[in-house]
Amino acid sequence: ERIGFAVVGLGRISVNQILPAFSRCKHARVTALVSGDRDKALAIARQYGISERAVFDYRTYERLADDAATQAVYIGLPNHMHAEYTVRAAQAGKHVLCEKPMANSVAECRQMIDACARAQRRLMIAYRSQYEANDRALLKMIRAKQLGTLREFISSNCQNQGDPDQWRLKRALAGGGALPDVGIYCLNAARFLSGEEPIEVIGHTWSNPADPRFREVEEAAHFILRFPSGFTATCTTSYSAHQAKFLRLAGSEAWAEMDPAYAYSGLRLRIGRLVDGRDTVQEFALESADQFARQIDHMAECIASSRQPHTPGEEGLQDMRIIEAIYQSAREGRPVRLGPPPGPLRGP
Ligand code: NAD
Repeated sequence: ERIGFAVVGLGRISVNQILPAFSRCKHARVTALVSGDRDKALAIARQYGISERAVFDYRTYERLADDAATQAVYIGLPNHMHAEYTVRAAQAGKHVLCEKPMANSVAECRQMIDACARAQRRLMIAYRSQYEANDRALLKMIRAKQLGTLREFISSNCQNQGDPDQWRLKRALAGGGALPDVGIYCLNAARFLSGEEPIEVIGHTWSNPADPRFREVEEAAHFILRFPSGFTATCTTSYSAHQAKFLRLAGSEAWAEMDPAYAYSGLRLRIGRLVDGRDTVQEFALESADQFARQIDHMAECIASSRQPHTPGEEGLQDMRIIEAIYQSAREGRPVRLGPPPGPLRGP
């Protein structure tokens, strides 16, 4: 029996990636929709064979409690709604798979974790890269010490944001600009690939004062993370540059490069090392299109077997602690120390 999910919020990520991904899932299916736009929701419901009775809006959301076919919700709403709709889902007895960034503050992340713990429901943050095949292959090589000791990580995630009126450019809705939206991929990759947690951050943010898009949120952010072993991550993110999505790792025995990294599909991984004294480069382009289905199936399996997801709420909370420290460092013009992370972050 597949785990039933309600898809909450029918914007771009839900309609273009998540709903189609369910057809590639082995352990999950869509059983309900939640949207403020009833006509759109009914059209999508027909397309996916969902009954009209299982189409809810933001006021009737709590009725999910009586929908026995739905055990979990996927939250694809703007960032400022993640906390509220996670807490309400948990109170309605549903497990939660929530989009990144987890919320707009550390305080909201803690409320979400507490609400799911109290209701004894699972909480997972949709860090799709951690379920993506090339990332998994790279992580395996790192753990097998094929790169030697990790020294440096360099990464960038940039895109152009057009419409100046969109929610992503409003502080109260998005929580910030490029950093929590796309810079978070670099931050999360530095952590999950190294398996370490940063002890210090240095941050800098920038907005062109003449650009009306960046009156409320930062256009670009640059940050350096220092880890206990001496490993260092240097990252840049921007809302006003054409697609740059890459990461590069320097290890004592090999380098690894993903370009593109973080994309929905078409990821490429290259590993360079010395073999018999000669530079060699090995190339991978594993199928990356299934990362959305893999993350949904992972959540479904965790629900079915009562296991903690690989990217639980604590993983989202830790990124939010670091994002807040980056902003603090940028404001105060000095490095900011970070204490140990809050409890176990992620599974194997
Ligand atoms: P979007 O703007 O396309 O969709 C947001 C949806 O929420 C829309 O259907 C909109 O109608 C609805 N909504 C409800 N209340 C709203 C309000 N007060 N203001 C604005 N919209 C409201 O956004 P999206 O790109 O689908 O992003 C949704 C979430 O998914 C965000 O948290 C984002 O960070 C995340 N996301 C993740 C990925 C990924 O690769 N994992 C990619 C894109 C977006």
